[in-house]
Amino acid sequence: MQMDKYKKGEFGKCPRVACDGQPLLPMGQSDNVRVSPVRLYCARCEDLYNPKSHRHSQIDGAYFGTSFHNIVFQVYPNLLPPKSQKRYEPRIFGFRTHASAALIRWQHEQKDAIKERIVAAGAETGFEGEDEDNAIEEDEEGDGGEDGIDDMFEGGKNA
Ligand SMILES: [Zn+2]
Repeated sequence: MQMDKYKKGEFGKCPRVACDGQPLLPMGQSDNVRVSPVRLYCARCEDLYNPKSHRHSQIDGAYFGTSFHNIVFQVYPNLLPPKSQKRYEPRIFGFRTHASAALIRWQHEQKDAIKERIVAAGAETGFEGEDEDNAIEEDEEGDGGEDGIDDMFEGGKNA
């Protein structure tokens, strides 16, 4: 019956745009009572959220415990969603902001390196396939995109 509730999204859906309404699973951050209320786990972004409903936030996290979501996906592996590759990238008027673009590039490199290691070890990465949006983003990264905003500032100084 917990599974029906999960499939219907009765525990709520992940508020993250890129998670596309992924249903949340209840879990505790402690197996001891009166430590923290129930939290909601998104299997797509692997993050925790506070319950929106007041009724849910009254439930003690220990009722579900720290292992509930792991057990669920061991018993029902077909319910495990692919990990989302999509991330929000901060932009100012459509141009990537400089520091965050550098950070995001580094994080993408790390992610790709980890994926290569997982594939080399012969295991499933659990990531969904690279979508076309990402391919377009990679092209932008060359010398277009982020240079735009620097040009704008340089133009301003010269004027
Ligand atoms: Zn999520």
